[in-house]
Order: sequence, then structure tokens, then C-alpha cells
Amino acid sequence: MDNNITRFEELLVKNGLKRTGARLQVLEILSGRDSATSQPYLEQVMGKVVDRVTLYRVLQAFEEKGIIHKVLDSHGTANYAICSDGCDAHQHHDEHVHFDCDNCHKIYCLESVKIPVPKVPSGFKVQHLNLIATGICSACTDKVN
Ligand SMILES: [Zn+2]
Ligand SMILES: [Zn+2]
Ligand SMILES: [Zn+2]
Repeated sequence: MDNNITRFEELLVKNGLKRTGARLQVLEILSGRDSATSQPYLEQVMGKVVDRVTLYRVLQAFEEKGIIHKVLDSHGTANYAICSDGCDAHQHHDEHVHFDCDNCHKIYCLESVKIPVPKVPSGFKVQHLNLIATGICSACTDKVN
């Protein structure tokens, strides 16, 4: 726990962000889960601490700095997940498949499953790729069997 706080503080400092309770708490929530965290859930949990606008700004700053990435699920709801080390303020590298479980509705980052960059006509430049797979996650499969 204390180790985590230090790690999060370092992450904020490294990205030129001031250390605030709200920022630390959002990092703690997002990194403590094995799947992406939905914005409604964050609003619910953080609602006791900060207002919606503050939360929105925290998320926006984190996204800009390459700390978290946003995943829209099949309902268009925003979910947030911690980025891998490869992301920074200049470029995200989250071209991995996201898995939306039909049963538990968790969104997983399948970091090891990269999305192939499609060949686009000259003059076009791919900057963001998004691929969501839906189905049954391994935890739910285990439950069924
Ligand atoms: Zn990223
Ligand atoms: Zn599941
Ligand atoms: Zn992801």
C-alpha cells in the first residue's frame, strides 16, 4: 500500500503533475483492478471526494500524459485502464485488443494481443486503433465449467 503511494507519487512527479489526493486515489483505484474501470464507477467512488468536473480533469490529464487510456465499451461507456510503460505524453501505444465480457461486463486489456496496423492509402496516417472483442472471459469460463 505505502509502496504503491510512493510509486504513484513518482509517476505524478515524472509527468509534471502536482500531487493531489484525487489524482493519487484515481491511480490507486485504476491499478488495483484486473480490468478497466468504468467512468460511472469512478464517479460513484470518487463522488465522495471530488466533484465530477475535477474527476474529469484528472482523467483528461492522465490520458494526455500517457498514464491511462480510454476504452469505449459496446454501450459507448468510457472505461479507463492504466497504460503500459511504453506510453508517454507524446504517443500512446495501446494497440492491443480489449475484451468486453458478455457475462461479467469487465473490460480487459489484452496487452499481449496486438492489433495489426492496417495498410491505409498514402496520405493517410493511422494514429489510433481500437478493437473490442466480446465474449466470455477466462474467469467466467472457469465458473461455468
Ligand atoms: Zn497509453
Ligand atoms: Zn467475465
Ligand atoms: Zn488497454
